[in-house]
Amino acid sequence: MIHLKSRQEIDILREANLIVHEVLAKLKSMCQPGLTTLELDHVAEDMTRKFRGRPAFKGYHGFPATLCTSINEEVVHGIPSKRALKEGDILSIDYGICFRDYYGDAAVTVPIGKISDDVAFLLKTAQECLGLGIRQAMAGNHVADISAAIQTHAEVQGFSLVKEFSGHGVGRSLHEEPVVLNYVANGRGIQLKPGLVLAIEPMVNQGTDKVVVLKDGWTVVTKDRKCSAHFEHSVAITEDGPLILSLPPSGESPVFGGCR
Ligand code: MG
Repeated sequence: MIHLKSRQEIDILREANLIVHEVLAKLKSMCQPGLTTLELDHVAEDMTRKFRGRPAFKGYHGFPATLCTSINEEVVHGIPSKRALKEGDILSIDYGICFRDYYGDAAVTVPIGKISDDVAFLLKTAQECLGLGIRQAMAGNHVADISAAIQTHAEVQGFSLVKEFSGHGVGRSLHEEPVVLNYVANGRGIQLKPGLVLAIEPMVNQGTDKVVVLKDGWTVVTKDRKCSAHFEHSVAITEDGPLILSLPPSGESPVFGGCR
């Protein structure tokens, strides 16, 4: 069932997602060689509690941590650990909060120190894919317009899209309908209406689109062990176009030009 949100609900989702932004900004500022992902997880959990929220992922289907931290070939759902980050790594941080019964959800991939030009281009393209997808999140468009924008840009730049995981509606549940694929499958999907709130989250791979799950039961890695990047924003469809809930008005990136 598709749940369209009222103005009041979008206001709460906005608050939740601005916390997500603040936590991710703090984590990003901490990222450097030598830091462990467990240290990041502790900071994220502390901040979540200070904001009177609850970590959305912890306990979700048994996931053990506040953050999903995925390094290099890890695509999503990596578990924070004592593994230290190294110069040249990339780290995807996915973070969600439950705040006043509503969920905020966003992700970012961060370079650790100096990274190779190839991997920097992957990050840039993945972020552009997210921006281009968001621009399609307009009333009257269909879900597949978002998918097509993401897929086209990634493939034109020579990358592939993970097919097994997708974006989703978000609200009183972390994952709501509709599914927001990062590639075009059959049909156009539902038509987008004001009040629909979507977490849009392309996962872009350097090599093959094929992924496997490690023995821990969570960590998804690329089959060829090449790098993968993940960016996510929660976005409300409004009468006036897409509103990126997980980005403050002052934090507009040129990638998202045209969005509020
Ligand atoms: Mg998500």
